[in-house]
Parts: sequence; C-alpha cells; structure tokens
Amino acid sequence: MWRTRESNGDDVYDFKLWKEHSESGKILHYEDNLALMICFDFVNPFGKQSTTKYSVGVISMVILNLPKDIRYKKDNMFILGVVPGPKEPKLHLNGFANLLIEQLRQLEEGCFFDGIVVRAILFCVTGDIPALRKILAFAGFGTHKACSKCKKNCSHLQGWSGTLASTPRKEMELESASNYYANSVQNQEQDKLHIQKYFARYSPFYSLKYFNVLRQHTIDPMHNLFLGVTKAHFKYLLTILSEKKLKILDSRIELIQKHLPVGLGRLPTQIGKFYYSMKAEQFLNFALYISIVALQNLLPKKHYLCWYMLVFALRKFSSYQMNQKIAEEGHEAYIRYLDLFRDLAGVENITINFHLVLHLKELLLDFGPIHVFWCFSFERFFSFFFKKKCHVFFCFFFVFFVVDSFHSFFFLSFFLSFFLSLQ
Ligand SMILES: [Zn+2]
Repeated sequence: MWRTRESNGDDVYDFKLWKEHSESGKILHYEDNLALMICFDFVNPFGKQSTTKYSVGVISMVILNLPKDIRYKKDNMFILGVVPGPKEPKLHLNGFANLLIEQLRQLEEGCFFDGIVVRAILFCVTGDIPALRKILAFAGFGTHKACSKCKKNCSHLQGWSGTLASTPRKEMELESASNYYANSVQNQEQDKLHIQKYFARYSPFYSLKYFNVLRQHTIDPMHNLFLGVTKAHFKYLLTILSEKKLKILDSRIELIQKHLPVGLGRLPTQIGKFYYSMKAEQFLNFALYISIVALQNLLPKKHYLCWYMLVFALRKFSSYQMNQKIAEEGHEAYIRYLDLFRDLAGVENITINFHLVLHLKELLLDFGPIHVFWCFSFERFFSFFFKKKCHVFFCFFFVFFVVDSFHSFFFLSFFLSFFLSLQ
C-alpha cells in the first residue's frame, strides 16, 4: 500500500532510510517484505504510582508497512518478549538481545506465511533513553561521554564548550569495539576500561548486516523533548516565578483549557506544585498550546523570549509533515534557544537531554515526523496491557524463565498475544 500512496512527508516512507532500504536488491524493494520497529522500555506492572517497586522490560513491536492510522492500534502491536523484574539488569541485556537477534536473522532469511515467503528487517529501535542504552549495550548516562550519537564531552566539570554536536560516532568503530569486547574483555576492570574508551560493550545487534546500530536507534522525543528539556526548563522557570505569579498562571491555564478540546487532557490545578508528576503529553500540551499566552508578562523579558524560542523549535520538531526545511528551521531555532538558556540559567541546568535534541534533525530526515518513532503509542499500549492485570503472566514467566530461559521468552509472547486477543 505504501508503494502507491502520495508522498507528502507525513510518514516514514518519504524519508531517507526507507528509500535506501527500498532500493533495487534490498529487502523492502520486494512486495510482501516487512520493516519492523521495536520499542524497549522498563515499566512497573503495578502502575507508576504504586508503592511496589518492580520493573520489567518490555520489548514491543510494530510493522511499519501498515498505514499509520492502524499501525499503532493495540490489535496490530506485538509483545516480543519480557525481561523479568523485580530490578532492571545493571549493564546490558545481551542475553535477551541474543534471542531476539536469532529470530530476526530467521526473518531476514524468510518464513513461509500463508503460502508465500515473507522476509522482514529490523528498521528502527526506539524507547526510553536509558533502556535503549541497555538493549544496545551502550554505556549509561553516568559516563562523561554520554551521547550515543556523537563523542560530545558532557561533563560539567570540564566545562560546556558550546552547544553544537561533536565528532559523530562511526558504526565501524562501534562494531569493532563490540567484537573486541566479545573476544578480549573478561573481568570488571577490563569492562570499565573498555567502556571509558569505546562507550559500548559487545552487542549482537551488530551481527545484523543490514542494520546500522548507530543510525537506526532513535532518541525518543517523548522522553527527550517533553519529559527532558521542556520539564527541566519549566522547573527552572519555577525558581523565578513568585507565588503571586504562579496563581495568575494557574488561573490563566484554567481559562485557556476551557477553550481547548477535552481530548487534549488537563493540567494540574496547581501547576507549580504538581508539575513533577505531569506526563509527557501534558508537557506537550502546555508548551505547544497554552504556555505562550499563559506566561505572558509573568516572566522577565529575556526569560519569556527564551521559552518562546523553545516552543518555536518544539512546534517545528512536532510538525505533522516533515521536510528538510522544517527540520533545519527547528534545529537552528533550538541552537539559538539553547545558547540563550545556557546564558540565563547557567551550565548547571543543562543536562544531557539538552544535548541529545541536537541529533533530532538527523532522525527527522531519516525516519520522518516524530510521531513515527516517538513512544507515546507504545506507552498507551503498555498502559492498556497492564490495566488488564497482565502482571500475573509476568509472575508465571519469571518461574518459567528460571527453568527454561530460551523458550520462555517466546512462549510468553504467545500467551500474551492470546490473552490480548480475548480482550
Ligand atoms: Zn551527541
């Protein structure tokens, strides 16, 4: 269906990576072959507000060949596997990734389905940023070079030397570091030295020859742009807004929301007090639809201008249709914003999330608009999933995992798919 659609820049098919994978001789060139997007995230199956500390990793998948209006419906989303809790593995998830890659290799070779051979490729890996680092065996946020796309030194102790992205990482370097790790690293000390030097451990993802780990992993805009940058900036604004001005802000928000569609969701009645528990969608709504009017004359002029520049960049980045011009306008606006915010708020308020946005332009040109690869759809899927009390299955899985880790990973997927089909 995607072959005959009109190209208008609103989906992945109009952008670089899809075009490259659809060239003559490539897997997507042939009808019936599929491109898969995987999302990996850690979630508390008992709910975010639960006092029970429990974290399971969920690997879910969508088929990008489906039109976007049905692609993210729960009936078309899959749970591929689950990493059992109660705690997240500390360093990497290669044990689980190996199982996944084995299945992906078989899909690359082709499987009989309904009388025809279907081949599939892994097109994109997205997810919560720390979770993504673990599944791809990158170093965590703790290292001073904490960007998975470039070699930017992110240590505040060594000074913030400008906001531009640094030397890009190279796929070949990461792949050879992965091979070196597999053959040579044997203890904790060697692991530490390897991470300091190369940023990444061994990962089985490099064995998929068509998959470029560096290019085909995303920086999720839901976590990065809205729960990262927008939230951090708003937190900073709270330090300069007086109690009186916060009350004015609350009353303006209430008034504006009366004129917005109910489907947009609502903000807390006291945003200054409860902003911390706001979801990514609420930060998006606040920034894009409410804040420019609500914050008018409440902030010093430079601070208002700075927030305005952030919102301008967010609007460009969130454009429903994407093209080179919009991506570049968003990028340029963001650089101007970031320089101003650094001058106003100080380097101590610049986190790694602020840097990661600098790589969004490349992602927009490779994958298309942010709604293609952001995690909102997957988060909705997870919340549906856990509302149905599926953690019973995780308990079952955990017991089974101890007995037979290989088969449990895939049997669980079958059980979950069956369970969801009954809903
Ligand atoms: Zn970077």
